[in-house]
Amino acid sequence: MCGIIGVIGSKYAAEEVFLGMLNQQHRGQHSAGILTYSNHFHLRRENGLVDKAFDQKALEALVGSLGIGHTRYPTAGVNVPVQPFFLTYPYGIGMAHNGNIINFKSLRDYLVEEKHRILVYESDLEILLNIFSDALDPVLFSPNAVYNAVKEVYRMVNGGYSVVGLIARKGLFAFKDPRGIRPLILSERRHGEELSYAFSSEDVAMRSQDYKVVRDLEPGEVVFIDMDMNVHSSILEKNVPAPCMFEWVYFSRAESVLNKTSVYKVRLGLGKALAKQLKGIKADLVAPVPDTSRTAAISLAEELKLPYREVLIKNRYVGRTFILQSQKERENAVKLKLNVVYSEIEGKDVIIVDDSIVRGTTSKKIIELLREAGARKIYFVSTCPPLKHPCYYGIDFPLQSELVASGQEIEEIRKAIGADALFYMDIKNLKKVLGIPVCTACLNGDYPTPLFEAHIFEQQRIEERR
Ligand code: 5GP
Ligand code: MG
Repeated sequence: MCGIIGVIGSKYAAEEVFLGMLNQQHRGQHSAGILTYSNHFHLRRENGLVDKAFDQKALEALVGSLGIGHTRYPTAGVNVPVQPFFLTYPYGIGMAHNGNIINFKSLRDYLVEEKHRILVYESDLEILLNIFSDALDPVLFSPNAVYNAVKEVYRMVNGGYSVVGLIARKGLFAFKDPRGIRPLILSERRHGEELSYAFSSEDVAMRSQDYKVVRDLEPGEVVFIDMDMNVHSSILEKNVPAPCMFEWVYFSRAESVLNKTSVYKVRLGLGKALAKQLKGIKADLVAPVPDTSRTAAISLAEELKLPYREVLIKNRYVGRTFILQSQKERENAVKLKLNVVYSEIEGKDVIIVDDSIVRGTTSKKIIELLREAGARKIYFVSTCPPLKHPCYYGIDFPLQSELVASGQEIEEIRKAIGADALFYMDIKNLKKVLGIPVCTACLNGDYPTPLFEAHIFEQQRIEERR
């Protein structure tokens, strides 16, 4: 998953993109980049965290009232450089995206062999940018020309993707894939005479900068904002939305509101729904695995009328950036990140809530830690139903063979992670709590797009693992 931002109309576009990216840092920590335009392109792309990538001087060099930014969470591709990318024909076009293309390989072959495009990287964005620019009318520019180029993207590209882009001297654009799998929000701000607009993955990114949410983009919708701040938009394909349920379960920030649905409220609802599934379980306390599951653990404790305690504390300064040599031999670095509050755990029967179980290594380690600390019974709860199928739309779920819930019954998983009982959110309850149509492909294999070439994508992943 990644975070994307676009700003038009502000004197300090780069600074606002930067602040937006800081607020979306949770969506990707691998790299950060900003592209702006005034007379020519200004670009800075770095590996690592946003506040390490940019300082005051770097931001001042990114001049212009038109800017886009990206924070990356890697999914596919080894040779993937930092976004945004740009091309200079038929216009100066810059782009950043969040998501994943399934038919990457055949599109790449098509662009190279039939369109004679020079492609340098193994990057989905390079594909999107080349298809878009190839379809953009080089003579007559208009909002319609942008719509037509996006139509061609929809015709060619199979996957889940949200895109922001800028066109030199023309404006800012953004679109969601035809099913609206990845989030994208339009906000606006009036500061005296100045009117500016922003696109962001999550509303929270721009809220702290006085931007007001206008609305979520619709699935299959493209929005183009010209240099006079006229907003043009068109729904090119009307489909039932299929936003990724994992945005609410794990990915988005708790204070975000996506598709008019509050992440915090959903997580409270998940805890409440789980309480029904746990009726009859006797325990001394409910505790979250920090941080994502905290909200659900609070409501679960309330419903069960049990004390809510934090028995695991996260060290907020341990990043994901590198693993020490001495840690490499361990299965994972849970111990580096989480410490136990012994006083609350010894001799207790505890209900531990995590947002999800992916490979099952985290839950196993946590249960070991709690047993070492003297916990008696450990009941493990996942607010996400069993993850059984790979995601082709941008969440880095491992290969099916690595998903602990794929091909194993709950009882086998319980044994594997060493819990005294294991509870998973029910899919039906999850859908009820969300109350809007969502993509649940990773849970039940119900993929919202065609799957041709998914096997090639899988093969690529297997090779990357080697
Ligand atoms: P497991 O060890 O089962 O593979 O991982 C489960 C843990 O990973 C959970 O605590 C969950 O919060 C976290 N998690 C779930 N999805 C993602 C993801 O996409 N990226 C990262 N870094 N962590 C995730
Ligand atoms: Mg977690």
